[in-house]
Amino acid sequence: MSGTRVAIVGGGPVGLAAALFAARAGMSPTVIEARDTDGDKACGEGLMPGVMPLLDELGIDPPGHELRGVSYRQGNRQVDHLFPVVPGRGVRRTVLVDALRTETDRFEIPRVQARVTSLTQDPSTVRLHCAEGEEIEADYVLACDGLHSTIARQLGLVARPRKRARRYGLRQHFRCRPWGSMIEVYYAGDAELYVTPVDDETVGVAVLGPKGINLARTIARVPQVSAHLGQAPVASKLRGAGPFPYKARSAQVGRVLLVGDAAGYVDAITGEGLRVGFAQAREAVSAVDSGQPASYPRRWRAVTREFRLLTRGLVALASSPLRGSIVPLASTAPRVFGVVVDRLAR
Ligand SMILES: Cc1cc2nc3c(=O)[nH]c(=O)nc-3n(C[C@H](O)[C@H](O)[C@H](O)COP(=O)(O)OP(=O)(O)OC[C@H]3O[C@@H](n4cnc5c(N)ncnc54)[C@H](O)[C@@H]3O)c2cc1C
Repeated sequence: MSGTRVAIVGGGPVGLAAALFAARAGMSPTVIEARDTDGDKACGEGLMPGVMPLLDELGIDPPGHELRGVSYRQGNRQVDHLFPVVPGRGVRRTVLVDALRTETDRFEIPRVQARVTSLTQDPSTVRLHCAEGEEIEADYVLACDGLHSTIARQLGLVARPRKRARRYGLRQHFRCRPWGSMIEVYYAGDAELYVTPVDDETVGVAVLGPKGINLARTIARVPQVSAHLGQAPVASKLRGAGPFPYKARSAQVGRVLLVGDAAGYVDAITGEGLRVGFAQAREAVSAVDSGQPASYPRRWRAVTREFRLLTRGLVALASSPLRGSIVPLASTAPRVFGVVVDRLAR
């Protein structure tokens, strides 16, 4: 609805995308972001092919490195699959956030620096209370405040994951000419190592695994990667994220809609958070625009279903006794493996 005041808590990629969708629908969005930084965070930074049309819709085309497919490797076994139609792109998180911020500036969307600590709502408005003492009133709130969302906690929606299932992620960049155009995934002990080229002279490395994972030690276990990175200078601060999985019990309470990681995040094993987050942002804005916020949980389930099922399945496989045989099995059934990667590519 034209002029609807939408307060967006969190100016990460999903919050900024939500602001752009809202502005394009004629609403009056405001982004409230706690941190005054370049937006960097632990992320594999692989934009899967399915993100590309969403970036077109958002009007941004951030520079990066072409990604032609995914290559899974274990010991001396390897199985590759090329993305079927369009390539993906490795894009530094800071570059993506910068492109989104520039577009929000073009739409003159206000960005307020404040940390939201709580909210109250009645049948017609929502009021956000910030640590800085500021109060912001809106018709709707889109909570895009990431994994372990403050807003979800405030609304009593957070279920704690079972202890043994918790996983974590780490990420760092190296100044090194990329040696390929695939996302390389290595199964190294109980961790998975992801290599993503993000520009012509930078390679991002992410590690996923149980508590206590160590990036340098994991790289050292993978000769195909350590041979390239051995002497390469570190190009970013080591960052971590977790634990996952994380899930809010509902994606909507009254006039508050949870979007992106704030609503739930299964795992980074499929490198899919951004595509699914942008799709949720579009659905949340459309639900608000139609004056039917209660339709959002159904829409949320529809746009996240495949991600949730596939990611849960892959994490279960990676945590099972079959872990050591994943790549050998995939190489004996390349068609099945191709179907999985094609699903990720959509
Ligand atoms: C190791 C790892 C690798 C990954 N690899 C990939 C990949 O290759 N491809 C992919 O698509 N996805 C990947 N993901 C997932 C992806 O990073 C996330 O899905 C994505 O960042 C979600 O974006 P978001 O905007 O929802 O949350 P975030 O990026 O976390 O942004 C949340 C924002 O909210 C702000 N905020 C938080 N609390 C408040 C508050 N109270 N008030 C105001 N502001 C607040 C934060 O400062 C932050 O800017 C990976 C994740 C991990 C952990």
